[in-house]
Amino acid sequence: MKENILEMERYAAEHNVPIIEQDSIVFIMKYIQANNVKNILEIGSAIGYSAILMASAAEDVKVTTIERDENRYMECLKNVKKCGLDKRINVVYQDALEVNLTGVEYDLIFIDAAKGQYTKFFEKFKYFLSKGGCIVTDNLKFHGYVGNKKDIESKNLKSLVTKIENYIDFLKNNEEFETKFYDVGDGLSVSVRKDEK
Ligand code: SAM
Repeated sequence: MKENILEMERYAAEHNVPIIEQDSIVFIMKYIQANNVKNILEIGSAIGYSAILMASAAEDVKVTTIERDENRYMECLKNVKKCGLDKRINVVYQDALEVNLTGVEYDLIFIDAAKGQYTKFFEKFKYFLSKGGCIVTDNLKFHGYVGNKKDIESKNLKSLVTKIENYIDFLKNNEEFETKFYDVGDGLSVSVRKDEK
């Protein structure tokens, strides 16, 4: 297992695949253990690195992970199988905004896909949280660009950072959810329904 994880880290570095930072995945794995999380939905599998580590946090954790890029989906399937986790990790090849979910509930929903669509993911998937469940979002610092837009020259990058800033405001002003922000890795948040804390 350890060798498989190291191999995925090497593959991600070589092929420019963004994967979660060490501190952030350690934080999430501890959260899974401390809060008895059993069912996880991940938006953005890439090559399966975080899905595999989340599933390894405890023996009875199940993960459904969604990826829209075909090559990454194939790589993810391969890695999940190599780690012997194909019974506990379900990899879905689809755009998360087009996925149809019914009759399922998740204790933890991890948003780690297109940064410009965070609010849409949150609004779509919040209905699938179990009682007391949480939504975790990664990359809220976006490599230090959030809050430091004046130094950015690229228009596209600036617009992406604005979207992340808008998402942070959306979380801060959300009447339904209470969100805690953590200065871990590239910036993480954990949102829990206010009446279920
Ligand atoms: N969670 C992964 C990890 O830490 O190992 C990293 C995920 S990477 C930051 C983001 C992934 O989300 C990319 O592979 C991208 O193709 C995928 N993605 C972006 N928007 C998506 C969408 N709307 N639906 C499904 N996947 C999406």
